[in-house]
Amino acid sequence: MGKLRAIWRKAAESVQRFLLTQTRTGIACVGLIVLAGCLTLVICPDTQDEEAPILSAARLPIVVIDAGHGGKDEGAKCKGVLEKTLTLDVALRLERILNARGFSTVQTRTEDVFIPLSERAQIANRVQGDAVFVSIHFNQGSGREIAGIETFYADNKVPIASDWTWLGLFSNAEPLDMGENLAAEVQYAVILKTGARDRGIRARHLYVTRHTRLPAVLVEGGFITNRMESHLLNEEHYAETLAAGIADGIEAWCRSRQKTVPPTLAQAP
Ligand SMILES: [Zn+2]
Repeated sequence: MGKLRAIWRKAAESVQRFLLTQTRTGIACVGLIVLAGCLTLVICPDTQDEEAPILSAARLPIVVIDAGHGGKDEGAKCKGVLEKTLTLDVALRLERILNARGFSTVQTRTEDVFIPLSERAQIANRVQGDAVFVSIHFNQGSGREIAGIETFYADNKVPIASDWTWLGLFSNAEPLDMGENLAAEVQYAVILKTGARDRGIRARHLYVTRHTRLPAVLVEGGFITNRMESHLLNEEHYAETLAAGIADGIEAWCRSRQKTVPPTLAQAP
Protein backbone atom coordinates (compact mmCIF):
# COMPACT_ATOMS: atom_id res chain seq x y z
CA MET A 1 0.00 0.00 0.00
CA GLY A 2 2.92 2.30 0.85
CA LYS A 3 4.47 1.64 -2.55
CA LEU A 4 1.15 2.23 -4.31
CA ARG A 5 0.76 5.55 -2.54
CA ALA A 6 4.31 6.58 -3.44
CA ILE A 7 3.72 5.69 -7.13
CA TRP A 8 0.45 7.63 -7.19
CA ARG A 9 2.03 10.61 -5.44
CA LYS A 10 4.86 10.70 -7.99
CA ALA A 11 2.41 10.43 -10.89
CA ALA A 12 0.18 13.20 -9.51
CA GLU A 13 3.19 15.47 -8.96
CA SER A 14 4.36 14.84 -12.54
CA VAL A 15 0.91 15.72 -13.89
CA GLN A 16 0.85 18.92 -11.81
CA ARG A 17 4.34 19.89 -13.00
CA PHE A 18 3.51 19.19 -16.65
CA LEU A 19 0.31 21.20 -16.54
CA LEU A 20 1.97 24.15 -14.88
CA THR A 21 4.64 24.31 -17.57
CA GLN A 22 1.92 24.59 -20.21
CA THR A 23 0.90 28.10 -19.19
CA ARG A 24 -0.82 28.70 -22.53
CA THR A 25 -3.37 26.00 -21.90
CA GLY A 26 -4.92 28.51 -19.53
CA ILE A 27 -7.19 28.40 -16.58
CA ALA A 28 -8.84 25.13 -17.71
CA CYS A 29 -5.76 23.35 -16.38
CA VAL A 30 -6.34 24.72 -12.92
CA GLY A 31 -9.27 22.37 -12.36
CA LEU A 32 -7.14 19.36 -13.33
CA ILE A 33 -4.27 20.51 -11.12
CA VAL A 34 -6.58 20.97 -8.12
CA LEU A 35 -8.19 17.57 -8.88
CA ALA A 36 -4.80 15.83 -8.99
CA GLY A 37 -3.84 17.52 -5.74
CA CYS A 38 -7.10 16.56 -4.04
CA LEU A 39 -6.77 12.92 -5.15
CA THR A 40 -3.22 12.92 -3.79
CA LEU A 41 -4.52 14.14 -0.44
CA VAL A 42 -7.25 11.48 -0.40
CA ILE A 43 -5.03 8.58 -1.45
CA CYS A 44 -1.87 9.79 0.31
CA PRO A 45 -3.07 11.66 3.42
CA ASP A 46 0.39 11.37 4.88
CA THR A 47 2.50 13.71 2.72
CA GLN A 48 5.71 12.97 4.62
CA ASP A 49 8.28 10.67 3.10
CA GLU A 50 7.77 7.37 4.91
CA GLU A 51 11.48 6.53 4.74
CA ALA A 52 12.61 9.93 6.10
CA PRO A 53 14.40 9.70 9.44
CA ILE A 54 12.58 11.15 12.42
CA LEU A 55 13.89 14.54 13.47
CA SER A 56 15.02 15.11 17.02
CA ALA A 57 12.46 17.60 18.35
CA ALA A 58 14.96 18.93 20.90
CA ARG A 59 17.23 20.08 18.09
CA LEU A 60 14.71 21.78 15.85
CA PRO A 61 15.47 25.44 15.20
CA ILE A 62 12.96 28.18 15.94
CA VAL A 63 11.56 29.38 12.63
CA VAL A 64 11.11 33.13 12.25
CA ILE A 65 8.40 33.61 9.62
CA ASP A 66 8.32 36.96 7.87
CA ALA A 67 5.19 37.83 5.92
CA GLY A 68 6.48 40.39 3.43
CA HIS A 69 5.03 43.93 3.25
CA GLY A 70 1.85 44.89 5.16
CA GLY A 71 -0.20 47.97 6.07
CA LYS A 72 0.64 50.94 3.84
CA ASP A 73 3.21 48.80 1.99
CA GLU A 74 1.07 46.66 -0.30
CA GLY A 75 3.96 45.12 -2.24
CA ALA A 76 3.24 43.90 -5.75
CA LYS A 77 -0.31 44.20 -7.00
CA CYS A 78 -2.24 43.15 -10.06
CA LYS A 79 -5.96 43.20 -10.77
CA GLY A 80 -6.96 43.52 -7.13
CA VAL A 81 -4.50 40.87 -5.89
CA LEU A 82 -2.20 42.33 -3.23
CA GLU A 83 1.14 40.76 -2.34
CA LYS A 84 0.79 41.74 1.34
CA THR A 85 -2.43 39.69 1.63
CA LEU A 86 -0.97 36.58 0.01
CA THR A 87 2.22 36.70 2.09
CA LEU A 88 0.28 36.87 5.36
CA ASP A 89 -2.01 34.03 4.30
CA VAL A 90 0.92 31.73 3.44
CA ALA A 91 2.85 32.81 6.58
CA LEU A 92 -0.05 31.87 8.87
CA ARG A 93 -0.47 28.54 7.08
CA LEU A 94 3.27 27.87 7.37
CA GLU A 95 3.17 28.60 11.10
CA ARG A 96 0.32 26.14 11.65
CA ILE A 97 2.06 23.41 9.61
CA LEU A 98 5.42 23.91 11.36
CA ASN A 99 3.83 23.95 14.83
CA ALA A 100 2.07 20.66 14.01
CA ARG A 101 5.49 19.22 13.08
CA GLY A 102 7.02 20.25 16.40
CA PHE A 103 8.71 23.53 15.42
CA SER A 104 8.45 26.69 17.51
CA THR A 105 7.78 29.79 15.44
CA VAL A 106 7.96 33.56 15.67
CA GLN A 107 6.05 35.80 13.26
CA THR A 108 7.20 39.30 12.31
CA ARG A 109 3.55 40.18 11.73
CA THR A 110 0.21 38.40 12.15
CA GLU A 111 -2.05 41.11 10.78
CA ASP A 112 -2.15 43.78 8.11
CA VAL A 113 0.33 46.22 9.66
CA PHE A 114 3.43 47.97 8.37
CA ILE A 115 6.69 46.68 9.89
CA PRO A 116 9.95 48.34 8.74
CA LEU A 117 12.63 46.00 7.39
CA SER A 118 14.99 46.95 10.22
CA GLU A 119 12.41 45.85 12.80
CA ARG A 120 11.88 42.55 10.99
CA ALA A 121 15.62 41.84 11.21
CA GLN A 122 15.68 42.89 14.87
CA ILE A 123 12.81 40.52 15.70
CA ALA A 124 14.84 37.68 14.15
CA ASN A 125 18.09 38.69 15.84
CA ARG A 126 16.40 38.86 19.27
CA VAL A 127 15.48 35.15 19.08
CA GLN A 128 17.72 33.26 21.47
CA GLY A 129 19.38 30.04 20.35
CA ASP A 130 19.14 28.07 17.16
CA ALA A 131 16.87 29.73 14.60
CA VAL A 132 16.28 30.25 10.91
CA PHE A 133 14.49 33.06 9.05
CA VAL A 134 12.07 32.61 6.16
CA SER A 135 10.64 35.64 4.42
CA ILE A 136 7.65 35.14 2.12
CA HIS A 137 7.07 37.31 -0.94
CA PHE A 138 5.44 37.21 -4.36
CA ASN A 139 6.76 38.57 -7.60
CA GLN A 140 5.68 41.08 -10.19
CA GLY A 141 6.93 40.59 -13.75
CA SER A 142 7.35 43.00 -16.62
CA GLY A 143 5.46 40.55 -18.85
CA ARG A 144 2.37 38.46 -18.16
CA GLU A 145 4.18 35.30 -19.28
CA ILE A 146 6.86 35.42 -16.55
CA ALA A 147 6.18 32.75 -13.93
CA GLY A 148 7.82 30.53 -11.35
CA ILE A 149 9.23 30.34 -7.86
CA GLU A 150 12.69 31.45 -6.76
CA THR A 151 14.49 31.58 -3.42
CA PHE A 152 17.16 34.05 -2.38
CA TYR A 153 19.82 33.92 0.32
CA ALA A 154 22.29 36.52 1.59
CA ASP A 155 25.15 37.63 -0.64
CA ASN A 156 26.79 38.85 2.55
CA LYS A 157 25.96 39.51 6.20
CA VAL A 158 26.23 43.06 7.49
CA PRO A 159 28.56 43.18 10.53
CA ILE A 160 27.13 44.55 13.77
CA ALA A 161 29.09 46.56 16.35
CA SER A 162 30.18 43.53 18.38
CA ASP A 163 31.80 41.98 15.29
CA TRP A 164 34.55 44.61 15.30
CA THR A 165 37.54 44.99 17.58
CA TRP A 166 39.25 48.30 18.41
CA LEU A 167 41.72 47.43 15.64
CA GLY A 168 38.86 47.39 13.18
CA LEU A 169 39.28 43.68 12.52
CA PHE A 170 36.34 41.44 11.98
CA SER A 171 36.45 39.42 15.19
CA ASN A 172 33.60 37.02 14.64
CA ALA A 173 35.39 33.65 14.65
CA GLU A 174 32.39 31.69 13.42
CA PRO A 175 31.46 32.62 9.86
CA LEU A 176 27.73 33.21 9.58
CA ASP A 177 25.58 30.86 7.54
CA MET A 178 24.45 32.77 4.43
CA GLY A 179 21.46 30.45 4.04
CA GLU A 180 22.48 28.88 0.73
CA ASN A 181 21.79 25.29 1.82
CA LEU A 182 18.49 26.31 3.40
CA ALA A 183 17.53 28.10 0.18
CA ALA A 184 18.38 25.01 -1.88
CA GLU A 185 16.30 22.70 0.31
CA VAL A 186 13.33 25.07 0.42
CA GLN A 187 13.40 25.70 -3.33
CA TYR A 188 13.65 21.98 -4.15
CA ALA A 189 10.79 21.06 -1.80
CA VAL A 190 8.52 23.89 -2.95
CA ILE A 191 8.97 23.01 -6.64
CA LEU A 192 8.40 19.33 -5.90
CA LYS A 193 5.22 20.13 -4.00
CA THR A 194 3.67 22.77 -6.28
CA GLY A 195 4.98 21.77 -9.70
CA ALA A 196 5.68 25.45 -10.40
CA ARG A 197 8.38 26.60 -12.81
CA ASP A 198 11.78 26.41 -11.10
CA ARG A 199 13.63 29.76 -11.22
CA GLY A 200 16.35 28.47 -8.92
CA ILE A 201 18.22 30.01 -5.98
CA ARG A 202 20.48 33.04 -5.96
CA ALA A 203 22.51 35.16 -3.57
CA ARG A 204 21.03 38.63 -3.56
CA HIS A 205 21.54 41.96 -1.86
CA LEU A 206 18.36 41.97 0.24
CA TYR A 207 17.96 43.79 3.56
CA VAL A 208 16.33 41.05 5.63
CA THR A 209 18.73 38.29 4.58
CA ARG A 210 21.79 40.51 5.03
CA HIS A 211 20.84 42.00 8.40
CA THR A 212 19.76 38.78 10.11
CA ARG A 213 22.43 36.85 12.01
CA LEU A 214 20.83 33.48 11.29
CA PRO A 215 20.46 31.42 8.10
CA ALA A 216 17.89 33.45 6.20
CA VAL A 217 16.05 32.95 2.93
CA LEU A 218 13.47 34.89 0.98
CA VAL A 219 10.97 32.87 -1.06
CA GLU A 220 9.32 34.55 -4.04
CA GLY A 221 6.36 32.18 -4.26
CA GLY A 222 5.09 33.05 -7.73
CA PHE A 223 4.14 35.95 -9.99
CA ILE A 224 0.89 37.69 -9.24
CA THR A 225 1.19 39.25 -12.71
CA ASN A 226 0.96 35.80 -14.31
CA ARG A 227 -2.67 34.86 -14.92
CA MET A 228 -2.34 31.23 -13.93
CA GLU A 229 -0.14 31.73 -10.87
CA SER A 230 -2.29 34.62 -9.66
CA HIS A 231 -5.36 32.40 -9.97
CA LEU A 232 -3.64 29.53 -8.18
CA LEU A 233 -2.39 31.74 -5.36
CA ASN A 234 -5.96 32.68 -4.56
CA GLU A 235 -6.85 28.99 -4.27
CA GLU A 236 -6.80 27.82 -0.67
CA HIS A 237 -5.48 24.41 -1.71
CA TYR A 238 -2.52 25.89 -3.59
CA ALA A 239 -1.60 28.33 -0.79
CA GLU A 240 -1.63 25.39 1.61
CA THR A 241 0.54 23.33 -0.77
CA LEU A 242 3.02 26.19 -1.09
CA ALA A 243 3.24 26.56 2.71
CA ALA A 244 3.66 22.79 3.11
CA GLY A 245 6.47 22.87 0.53
CA ILE A 246 8.33 25.54 2.50
CA ALA A 247 7.87 23.48 5.67
CA ASP A 248 9.19 20.37 3.86
CA GLY A 249 12.28 22.33 2.80
CA ILE A 250 12.98 23.53 6.33
CA GLU A 251 12.60 19.96 7.60
CA ALA A 252 14.91 18.59 4.90
CA TRP A 253 17.53 21.19 5.85
CA CYS A 254 17.23 20.14 9.51
CA ARG A 255 17.67 16.50 8.51
CA SER A 256 20.78 17.18 6.46
CA ARG A 257 22.20 19.23 9.32
CA GLN A 258 21.46 16.55 11.93
CA LYS A 259 23.12 13.98 9.69
CA THR A 260 26.37 15.95 9.60
CA VAL A 261 26.68 16.14 13.41
CA PRO A 262 27.26 12.83 15.24
CA PRO A 263 24.40 12.36 17.74
CA THR A 264 26.83 11.78 20.61
CA LEU A 265 28.50 15.16 20.02
CA ALA A 266 25.24 16.98 19.40
CA GLN A 267 23.77 15.78 22.72
CA ALA A 268 26.85 16.72 24.74
CA PRO A 269 26.22 19.63 27.17
ZN1 LIG B 1 7.70 41.53 -1.90
